[in-house]
Amino acid sequence: TAALTDLLPCETDSPEATHALGRRLAEHLRPGDVVALYGDLGAGKTQLVKGIAAGLGIPDVEVSSPTFTLVHEYRGGRLPLYHFDAYRLRNLEEFFDLGYEEYFYGDGVSVVEWADRIEPLLPPHTLRLRLEHLGGDRRRITWHEAPPSPDGLQSRL
Ligand code: ADP
Ligand code: MG
Repeated sequence: TAALTDLLPCETDSPEATHALGRRLAEHLRPGDVVALYGDLGAGKTQLVKGIAAGLGIPDVEVSSPTFTLVHEYRGGRLPLYHFDAYRLRNLEEFFDLGYEEYFYGDGVSVVEWADRIEPLLPPHTLRLRLEHLGGDRRRITWHEAPPSPDGLQSRL
């Protein structure tokens, strides 16, 4: 297993490469981890989540952007995966109503697309990743600047 610092920051040149990065990131994930994804439409957030799902050994489900449901739950892998997409979130209330704490502080891994929409609700141990278009099929994936997280993934770097 490569260290997280060997995986990131990095650039990918295809959807498959971003998927592969997700698979390798998944090896580091533990129960209760929260991964927050930042980046424009088409930056590759969902592609990365698909890779994480594959890396967790989640059986071949169609992982797509849960745009209309806020959260999809995927089971059957090493850990449950809770895939959020906050793109259409109108207010934080909606996220409370979802019972988000059960997910964020539960036994699975939460991954949040458009995490900036729920920034105040992200736990201290959140791992923040930024995805950026570099033109064509190139994307840059980096650590998003984040407050110190003593009990989080970043402390495992
Ligand atoms: P987001 O969830 O950030 O809106 P998606 O993962 O749904 O983005 O879509 C990314 C799109 O960009 C897909 O159509 C994918 O095939 C394409 N793509 C091209 N190059 C890459 C790359 N290097 N990494 C991820 N996706 C890429
Ligand atoms: Mg998406």
